[in-house]
Amino acid sequence: MVKAIRITRTGGPDVMSYEDVDLAAPAAGEVRVRHTAIGLNYIDTYFRSGLYPAPLPCGLGLEAAGVVDAVGDGVTTLKTGDRVAYGTGPLGAYSEAQNAPANRLVKIPDGVSDKDAAAMMLKGMTVQYLLRRTYEVQPGDTILFHAAAGGVGLIACQWAKHLGATVIGTAGSKEKADLARKAGADHVILYREEDVPARVREITGGAMVPVVYDGVGKDTFEMSLDCLAPRGLMVSFGNASGAVPPVDIGVLNLKGSLFLTRPSLAGYTATDEDLAMTAADLFDVMAKGVVTADVRQEYALADAAQAHRDLEARKTTGATVLIP
Ligand code: NDP
Repeated sequence: MVKAIRITRTGGPDVMSYEDVDLAAPAAGEVRVRHTAIGLNYIDTYFRSGLYPAPLPCGLGLEAAGVVDAVGDGVTTLKTGDRVAYGTGPLGAYSEAQNAPANRLVKIPDGVSDKDAAAMMLKGMTVQYLLRRTYEVQPGDTILFHAAAGGVGLIACQWAKHLGATVIGTAGSKEKADLARKAGADHVILYREEDVPARVREITGGAMVPVVYDGVGKDTFEMSLDCLAPRGLMVSFGNASGAVPPVDIGVLNLKGSLFLTRPSLAGYTATDEDLAMTAADLFDVMAKGVVTADVRQEYALADAAQAHRDLEARKTTGATVLIP
């Protein structure tokens, strides 16, 4: 038996219950990971609310770090005692332990703590593909990244700065703006008060930006399109304010022959090779000190519902971990 957060129906944070669940021995190709730290991500709230469907009842959470304590048949790449982390599931990371396919786990390098790995796997690999593959950020580019003081956002500010970009971030408060600036944002727009396209026009001398990274969704979609230069790329990668309603593609013509993509980490780490490359690139920038995890909130696993309330109320900044 292990303690785990489970849901039997979708809804608000109250649907989450902390209970004892049976954990079978790992199947062939799997190992059992005894979690030491679990990453909290906005996507967890989508599975809980039902925005993203999952077969019920189910666990929650896609990101954790820990130690291998049992190995299934046929696993040759990992052994008991290895420190490992994952950021692409399986669903059920909000638990003391779960079984996971060995080929989707990454060994945590020496020098990276379990907490930092749990905070970085999903968010940091997301930033890797966004900045290095969805749109390859070049030195001299000016980019717009929404929710720059959030979990993904603070990592993106650091990494984009390292790539030589001028970073325009958006944030919900002055305190958050300060955090984003410390992480490398050159300009921060308070998007609850200011006219974002007008500020982007002013900052770029009228040129606008070649790419907007938008994880806020419904509330920012239109304004993000208005911040793009002709033939710019709109990267809509999340729904913190709600899902973007269906889009009439004619708008991409009207606003300047724009491109639109709706990427996911799952798509960019679909093969084991993609996953290994993405994680290696992330651990490389962590080892060089270019990107730091900076875990800013910790909750006991049993208090995961409160962590969801705070995340959805925009009370958190940067990365958050749950401790089993
Ligand atoms: P964050 O820590 O960034 O939290 C979300 C932030 O969004 C809030 O702190 C808030 O910042 C901002 N926000 C704006 N409007 C709202 C609103 N109405 N309600 C709540 N928050 C709002 O979360 P994560 O770092 O975990 O994720 C950021 C985004 O990236 C999410 O949309 C997530 O789904 C997405 N994502 C997508 C992935 C992919 O591969 N497609 C992978 C990983 C994450 P502020 O107060 O400054 O506005």
